[in-house]
Amino acid sequence: MRESQRKVVCVIGTRPEAIKMAPVIQRLGREAWADLTVVATAQHRELMDQVLPLFGITPDLDLDLMRHDQSLADFSARALQAMDGVLADVAPDLLLAQGDTSTVLAGAMAAFYRRIPFAHVEAGLRSGDMDNPFPEEFNRRAASMVASIHFAPTEEARGNLLAEGIAGERIAVTGNTVIDSLLETARDDLPLPVAVPAGRRLLLVTAHRRENFAGPMAGICSAVARIVADFPDVEVIWPLHPNPNVSGLVRDALGRTPRVHLCAPLDYRAFCATLKRCTLVLTDSGGLQEEAPALAKPLLVLRDVTERPEAVAAGVARLVGAHPNRIHAEASRLLSDPAAYAAMASGVSPYGDGRAAERIVAVLRDRFAVH
Ligand code: UDP
Repeated sequence: MRESQRKVVCVIGTRPEAIKMAPVIQRLGREAWADLTVVATAQHRELMDQVLPLFGITPDLDLDLMRHDQSLADFSARALQAMDGVLADVAPDLLLAQGDTSTVLAGAMAAFYRRIPFAHVEAGLRSGDMDNPFPEEFNRRAASMVASIHFAPTEEARGNLLAEGIAGERIAVTGNTVIDSLLETARDDLPLPVAVPAGRRLLLVTAHRRENFAGPMAGICSAVARIVADFPDVEVIWPLHPNPNVSGLVRDALGRTPRVHLCAPLDYRAFCATLKRCTLVLTDSGGLQEEAPALAKPLLVLRDVTERPEAVAAGVARLVGAHPNRIHAEASRLLSDPAAYAAMASGVSPYGDGRAAERIVAVLRDRFAVH
């Protein structure tokens, strides 16, 4: 390390963190002032590992903390202790983390205890309901309490932070880095993971939130079965989250349904190809709520509340919860009414323009580079 450099630690743990931090890590790696250490907690081992090679990222430190059947407290306790060790060894000038996972919470707390500045990417998202999404709403609120720099993706997120008393000069509105990764990856002409006959309409479905385990997931499955029964030209691709609470139930419910393709988690390139080709998205995913509008895909959100209200306000997403009748009715309307479909496929992209990482790194350069 040169004397003019500043030590920056980036910590990631799950698939969305890897996708959303990749553009920031790539750019920071090219900054002369930054001596970068990428730390992986590997909170979700396989899903994180699937993403990083696509972006040419190899963690400098891999804490390998995932355990079979880990509870939230168990993982968080081990992550806090491990991150404390990392911060003691590296003694960085800054810790950077993204989003609302237990990895972020542990990183933020470890930085707070060691009095190391913490910068939070994707700051200020609020559902207003601590149980929904659980535990993410708590994690992101706690991260905001200790962050000294907040990278808010939207003006709305900035407003949430200001309302909690965070000073305006600590907040930068940057857009969401997920759009950087998406636009970069979706530029290529990529093959679909499943052969879908020409002329067929494709629904992309994902669901993995804790609130949707068990009963609600069964409701989502029954809605999907009714949609394919009613529309013979519709095929479904549903990459299943490896959590057994999700995959077992969905395989039992839909494993034999014609035109429903249940598959393992798709690598990000195959996922982008599917998103590009699809007609409609049904999801409870956070990232996908941001990505679908950027590719002009109408979106039915399988949740009752969202911390990403911008797409709903812009008319490109609708909250349908996990209620089978509502999911079926909204999907049917979009599949049979071209005007209703066109209104939601407007291409309004509230979450970014593909330049979020550039803005984030510019703020960090301004604060940390020795001039
Ligand atoms: N994704 C992927 N493969 C899949 C499903 C999702 O690469 O099979 C990507 C998706 O494009 C998005 C991210 O994973 O960027 C979202 O992750 P997830 O839904 O697991 O988490 P959330 O965003 O809800 O925290």
